[in-house]
Amino acid sequence: MEKGLFTLNDLIAQVKAIRPDADIKLIERAFALADAAHKGQNRMSGEPYIQHPLNTAMILVEMHAPDPVVAAALLHDVPEDTNVTLEEIREKFGDDIAGMVNGISKVGKIKYRGVERYIENLRKMFVAMANDVRVIIIKFADRLHNLQTLDSIPQKKAYRIALESLEIYAPIAGRLGIGEIKGRLEDAAFKYVLPKEYEFTLDLATKATQNKQPAIQKIIDQTKDELVKSGIQFIDIHGRYKHTYSLYRKLLKYGRDVTKIYDFTAIRCILPTTADCYAALGIIHSRWTPLKGRIKDYISQPKPNGYQSLHTTVFYDRGSIVEFQLRTPEMHEAAEFGIAAHWNYDEIKGKKFAANQFKNMLDAEKEIEWINQLAVMQNTIKDKEEFLNSLEELKLDVFRDRIFVYTPKGDVIDLPEESTPIDFAYHIHTDIGNTTSAAKVNGVIHPLDQPLRSGDIVEIVTNKSRKEPNPDWLKFAKTRHAKSKIRQYARAGLASWIKGVLPSAIKKKK
Ligand code: MN
Repeated sequence: MEKGLFTLNDLIAQVKAIRPDADIKLIERAFALADAAHKGQNRMSGEPYIQHPLNTAMILVEMHAPDPVVAAALLHDVPEDTNVTLEEIREKFGDDIAGMVNGISKVGKIKYRGVERYIENLRKMFVAMANDVRVIIIKFADRLHNLQTLDSIPQKKAYRIALESLEIYAPIAGRLGIGEIKGRLEDAAFKYVLPKEYEFTLDLATKATQNKQPAIQKIIDQTKDELVKSGIQFIDIHGRYKHTYSLYRKLLKYGRDVTKIYDFTAIRCILPTTADCYAALGIIHSRWTPLKGRIKDYISQPKPNGYQSLHTTVFYDRGSIVEFQLRTPEMHEAAEFGIAAHWNYDEIKGKKFAANQFKNMLDAEKEIEWINQLAVMQNTIKDKEEFLNSLEELKLDVFRDRIFVYTPKGDVIDLPEESTPIDFAYHIHTDIGNTTSAAKVNGVIHPLDQPLRSGDIVEIVTNKSRKEPNPDWLKFAKTRHAKSKIRQYARAGLASWIKGVLPSAIKKKK
């Protein structure tokens, strides 16, 4: 098998290896439809188009995604790029899979109209996808494969895609605790955004790895021996090397002095229980001297994104240092896959679980870390102020209860929950609000007093001969903006009514 070129059989083999009871039929059906629909299409690289959905699905399988997510990944570009419609997908695969495919298509519909609008749209997009966090994760896999094939794309466009991945996608993956995908997105993009720095860092990392590798292997073997002697069970002990981009960021922090980076290599110990983790820490400390102030208990005090592990840095071989990371299999899965580690429970409880999980991760006590991340991002972005403002709002929006709907052109409009077409109309323009006569939602006439739902495509039908809003709209308008505009007219109307009526009333009294 050539690198990155997969067949359906490769995908199925991988699925079976991870989940022996997988619904292979479903995956085969999704592949068959995608393969037929994309027939004759090629990627810029010249490969058959089906390689893209296949690779996207493969990345998700490696993240332990459940079967419906893998199927949605195979189908993700079908409605946008082929003659097969979303409705056909819905008929054949049901609402859940069609819903995910629809969510991904919508991201594609967002048009590039200058940096400002683009960021605005993307920002709202991600929050909109919070409704079904699986869509974001499929989007990450889609983006990751696109980054891996950037070589065949014109340089300028490749740069823009890479930059956007580094500045927007990767931080959001980090925010969701999907460390593995964050690292892979960053490494794939790094090469195109800062080619010289990438070469420099990669070279440094390769040399350091080669130098350290034998010593690290020796420590791993010694650790295993010590644990066996002490009767502590372990599941796996392996070395891990820092992702290139994350190493680069640390290098910048320490004036490019690689000797100051303590966690360049780490030894990861996966142990059955939390108690085993603490016991193993004691064994490691009795064998190697720990560095003062480098023992971190993220088990009793998890990081804001939920990360849990015990960390310690020890001396070996006269002054060399290495970090140990100790964790249970559950903690390991959560660290690699973050919110996506909950796929499996998700399958049982329905996608609501993922949405709730997402909200929990964004609750108030975790705000500090989010602000720290914003600060880091601020330093790396050209149009600092604009971008920071957008992200600051992103944070606020997530805390509020918002819905996200689309204009027929694909712009995203965010509104408070329970908003109606009237709120949407006034959001677009006061004149549109004032002359609204009807609304179409997803192509179908929708009563003006009925709430909209996230993902709706809303079209307002206006009647230019209409002079003013209907005061009854006040009964169901949700936004302050719409209400105040309707009231302005109601008041003006009342004033003219009073003007007309009052003099005669006064006259009568006379
Ligand atoms: Mn795609």
